[in-house]
Amino acid sequence: MNIRKLFDKKKCVFSFEMFPPKKESGDMGAMLDTVNGLKELSPDYISITYGAGGNGGKNTAMLASAVKAAGVEPLAHITCMGSDEADIDDALKNLTDCGVENVMALRGDRVEGIKEGSFSYASQLVEYIKKVNPALNIAGACYPEGHVEAKNRFEDIKNLRLKVKAGVTHLNSQLFFDNEDFFEFIQLIRLAGIDVPVQAGIMPVVKVSQVDRIISLAGVKIPSKLSRLLSKYGSDPVAIADAGIAYATEQIADLIAGGVDGIHVYVMNNVTTATRIANNVKSLIARVNEGQ
Ligand code: FAD
Repeated sequence: MNIRKLFDKKKCVFSFEMFPPKKESGDMGAMLDTVNGLKELSPDYISITYGAGGNGGKNTAMLASAVKAAGVEPLAHITCMGSDEADIDDALKNLTDCGVENVMALRGDRVEGIKEGSFSYASQLVEYIKKVNPALNIAGACYPEGHVEAKNRFEDIKNLRLKVKAGVTHLNSQLFFDNEDFFEFIQLIRLAGIDVPVQAGIMPVVKVSQVDRIISLAGVKIPSKLSRLLSKYGSDPVAIADAGIAYATEQIADLIAGGVDGIHVYVMNNVTTATRIANNVKSLIARVNEGQ
């Protein structure tokens, strides 16, 4: 199933992101439990990340195949940092052999010691995939606060337009904690002529350790409201999970009220978190999809 078509049928698409085991010998049993747990929550699709440096996407493909077997459409990520065309051909074959019909084309983070490869930007990967496998549906990433390497938000949006023009049919956003950044970003990209659907990326913060990693990798802002929750409840695992889920739920409710095309939840393979979020927002998503 072509994931882009979901946006024609639904006002608000709801999906989860999970990651595969890091090693080829990783625990697939635990992964299958996660897939089955997420499936119970009836997501429209599940996206599966691609490890930095890849391994030809074998673990991503394996997990995508498990997601498909569970009856949920997979969106398999593929990155091009450090890859040449033959590496991408290999990875695409691994994915399509597992029945993958939708990929998210990404550049990948710069990793010290990894040479650039044949592609400098995700847009070039999109062009290449369109050339070698035109049947694949391609999604891409976007950054409501601007990508960390971009000179400014406007340059980033100019580059995003190139990526969409190359063949991306929908965008999933980087996580963010201030909805105003997202709403402003949507206004700016629409003015720039980018008209594909955009799902808002939401990460429920259920542990303080998540936050340092997020800031260093993604460079996203932590609003004072979230900072206060972290300092008050951060040392209590139950309290911080409750507070983080409440914060994410409020973000999602506001995004739906603001007419967002979809919500993509970074659940970090945590079925409990996914279940709590899905239960909190399912009536809102159902109502908006019923046209209310
Ligand atoms: P690009 O779209 O190529 O953009 C990267 C930078 O280059 C930006 O600053 C952009 O403005 C600039 N740029 C783009 N085109 C041009 C141009 N023509 N000229 C000059 N500058 C240009 N990483 C993983 O390793 N595995 C994953 O599975 C993964 N999944 C992700 C999913 C989502 C939804 C998001 C938001 C990120 C994900 N990442 C993943 C992280 C991602 O790989 C990094 O954020 C990476 O640094 C940028 O990837 P991109 O595809 O957005 O790159």
